[in-house]
Amino acid sequence: MAARSILNSQYLFVTFTKRAYSSKADKNVAFLGLGNMGGYMAANLAKKGFTVRGYDPSKEALAAAAKNGITGASSIAAAVEGADVVVSILPSNKVVLDAYLGKDGVIAHAPKGTLLIDSSTVDPNVPKQIHPVATEKSVGFIDAPVSGGVMGAQNATLAFMAGGRKEDFDRSVPLLKAMGAKQFFCGEIGAGQVAKLCNNMLMGITGMATAECMNMGIKMGLDPQVLLDVLNNSSARSWSTEVYCPVPGLIPTAPSSRNYDGGFKNELMVKDLELASGMALGIRSPIPLGAVATQLYRIVQSRGYGQKDFSFIFQLLKDEADKNNP
Ligand code: NAD
Repeated sequence: MAARSILNSQYLFVTFTKRAYSSKADKNVAFLGLGNMGGYMAANLAKKGFTVRGYDPSKEALAAAAKNGITGASSIAAAVEGADVVVSILPSNKVVLDAYLGKDGVIAHAPKGTLLIDSSTVDPNVPKQIHPVATEKSVGFIDAPVSGGVMGAQNATLAFMAGGRKEDFDRSVPLLKAMGAKQFFCGEIGAGQVAKLCNNMLMGITGMATAECMNMGIKMGLDPQVLLDVLNNSSARSWSTEVYCPVPGLIPTAPSSRNYDGGFKNELMVKDLELASGMALGIRSPIPLGAVATQLYRIVQSRGYGQKDFSFIFQLLKDEADKNNP
């Protein structure tokens, strides 16, 4: 009897260890935030054989997700009950902190051994606040923000950049692979957010710089296509000149060629630049270009174009040039 109970306790230890650190058992996923990004990401998990229970306060989001095989839950607690993994992609610092640390939040209800993956773009201090509370409750937590936009979410080609314990990242990889094409381990908790904010600040700066130069060259009389071809075959080329040119009609797949709709909203660019500015301020790292970019994209927003793709900034500069050169 005694021998059997020792065996049983060894068995329990092995199964708990497996549950905590192996991906084999990770089939039941709770998904929080079924918006533009999360709706597609959850759908891809369901398509690839995961059992997904989703929560979103928006009834429309829940109804759309149901069509893609996601079972709706009435609360965070109901979604995470019995889950192996929780994935979230939510709009802001406050929403993420409330969703994880609130009295009806994830950590209060997640079973021991659950792995929590937050893919929202937030201040690196947010995951740093959540991580110790999760560890205290014996649940794993990583920050894993994404790049690739709504199309990347739809086509499962997102790049994930993660921070946290390496074993938690390793465990997350099968899920991240079901939702994206690239997975980067960036370091300790919050490191994924640091990488994401560096990327988006640079994207904002190069986008603004491309708009500025294209506008100047066109106003000087250059053929827009010729100018773009020169840039793309010279030292100034970037993602912005190659695939995301802000001048309408030059790259058919760029948001600028479809009235700046359906890309990365200007208001999200402002959000990310503000997060990057806060991060830079905290360590007194000079970001003069990031600061200018923040101001310019804010002006676009205050003029009522926050819902347009961030490359709309070209139109702002063009308007100014048009006024000065009637
Ligand atoms: P979205 O507004 O379309 O979706 C957010 C969803 O979260 C909404 O459906 C909302 O109802 C839901 N929500 C709000 N509070 C909630 C809660 N407590 N529990 C569960 N759900 C809740 O936004 P999105 O474009 O999907 O972006 C989400 C996150 O992804 C943001 O942090 C954004 O910065 C980041 N991101 C977006 C893009 C993009 O191109 N849209 C790209 C990369 C990263």
